[in-house]
Amino acid sequence: MKRDLLDILACPMCKGDLILEVFEENESEILAGKLCCRACNEIYPIEDGIPNMLPPELRE
Ligand SMILES: [Zn+2]
Repeated sequence: MKRDLLDILACPMCKGDLILEVFEENESEILAGKLCCRACNEIYPIEDGIPNMLPPELRE
């Protein structure tokens, strides 16, 4: 995902702001990391460049 995407992403559970933590990135995008909601403390993983914004109970 591009860093710019963070501006439009919000927590699907509470619509709170997300904090980005990057584990791996290239010159154009973030490949791995996590998005943390500051309001409800939920964590959404970024894997293979794609943020998984599903609520935890819908993940496999
Ligand atoms: Zn939240």
